[in-house]
Amino acid sequence: MAKTSETVIILGAGQAGGQCAASLRRSGFEGRIILVGEEPHPPYQRPPLSKTYLSGEIDGSRLWLQPPETWTEQGVELRLSSRAKRIDPDRKLVVFSNGREDTYTHLVIATGSRVRPLPVPGAELDGVRYLRSIADVDKLKADVQPGKRIAIIGGGYIGLEAASVASKLGATPIVIEAMDRLLARVAVPEVSDFYRQAHEARGISIRLDAQVAALKPKAGLLSRGKTVTRVELNTGEKIACDSVLVGIGVMPNQELAAACGLDTGNGILVDDQCRTRDPSIFAIGDCAEQHNWLTDTRLRLESVPNALDQAKRAAAAICAAPAPKPEVPWFWSDQFDLKLQTAGLIGAQDTTITRAGDAETPRSFFHLADGVLIAADCINDPQSFMAAKLMIEKRAKPDPAALADPDVTMKDVMKAALAGAPA
Ligand code: FAD
Ligand code: NAP
Repeated sequence: MAKTSETVIILGAGQAGGQCAASLRRSGFEGRIILVGEEPHPPYQRPPLSKTYLSGEIDGSRLWLQPPETWTEQGVELRLSSRAKRIDPDRKLVVFSNGREDTYTHLVIATGSRVRPLPVPGAELDGVRYLRSIADVDKLKADVQPGKRIAIIGGGYIGLEAASVASKLGATPIVIEAMDRLLARVAVPEVSDFYRQAHEARGISIRLDAQVAALKPKAGLLSRGKTVTRVELNTGEKIACDSVLVGIGVMPNQELAAACGLDTGNGILVDDQCRTRDPSIFAIGDCAEQHNWLTDTRLRLESVPNALDQAKRAAAAICAAPAPKPEVPWFWSDQFDLKLQTAGLIGAQDTTITRAGDAETPRSFFHLADGVLIAADCINDPQSFMAAKLMIEKRAKPDPAALADPDVTMKDVMKAALAGAPA
């Protein structure tokens, strides 16, 4: 659909913002697209940051969402190192920190999320790292070299992926988690236990139920150092380290939206089309909170598939094109030789079924609520992941005994479940 006089401004040149610009062009939008990002880089993927980019297996050029010159070819005005400061919805105007102002027909807020800072004394010391951007990883690389001791605070995806890379590179990671299990926010206890055992079996030391009381520099007789050398826990334990990586979650960048009167909760509130209360303003990706068809609740999802889906949804709405079909949310994580693929969302399950593998893997965990499959965690088991995703979409009721039995193929489990009969 040609809309030559229209201008779409996209705030945030990340995974969601970049996809939205590309999808607008793919849907035939012929107006002006301004894609604004405060980082100096063209839109890039974050997943490799804690995996192959940290390990050095790939370089920066492999992170780009598309070759940088393609943006120009697509007629997308990419404005990098540029920060949006204020939105004026009445005048349909964005003010940037360099004083520039631009007007829009449609505005897409794709500002993502930012790391939660560690709230303890000593968090400002040198050697305390976070892992969100290319710049963060470029600093972190020196801390995961052979012989280095790195204390990793937070046993979520960031902490565990970074620990696995650090140990592969010959460093010594020590994971410190406040909860009584790893991945507590995103996984059931069975999956948490699996990952604790997998990490410990590979020599990674893990502290659970461990609150960080303070980070300390080297204590000198005459002066104190500025670089962190010790993590002190509430248990009294002192962990010596050369650096600290903090991975304790993220917060949505929703202040621009809140300041201009849009509704916010744990994210910018949007409808099924990713539209905010203002019909010409959309929000997508990590910063948006939307009703989820599967759980029938409002959620803010922090994942690439969600960022891509919402970007396509907003682009379709702007072009008055049909919306994409709702997807089953899915996630993945690479740690050592273990590829975790998760389909669906946990929370309402009353039963978890474990499907054993030959040795340590493949192994999958299926989560049921009143017999309906609502989520699955599949480790080195892509067949189970694909079958589970389809069954979750169809709200199928697979036979629990067949799910648990590796001698029944997942194809047969699925066929029977979709036909409504036990396998
Ligand atoms: P972002 O990609 O964060 O992009 C937002 C951009 O907006 C940023 O560049 C930011 O600088 C910019 N911005 C913010 N405010 C302004 C402003 N005022 N003006 C201009 N620009 C602004 N997800 C998975 O599904 N699988 C994975 O394996 C996985 N691994 C990950 C590994 C790491 C290390 C990290 C950090 C995240 C990972 N994620 C993973 C999560 C995934 O990357 C995010 O969910 C996704 O990037 C969200 O996309 P987004 O566009 O909403 O936000
Ligand atoms: P996360 O998944 O929220 O995990 C952070 C963990 O740290 C939580 O278990 C949290 O416990 C714990 N924690 C909080 N405060 C702590 C403290 N003071 N001391 C010790 N532990 C503490 O977040 P993340 O791992 O930092 O990841 C950040 C973002 O990157 C998320 O959006 C994540 O989805 C994304 N990411 C995704 C992948 C992937 O999908 N493979 C990989 C890397 C990153 P509480 O729950 O109690 O707060």
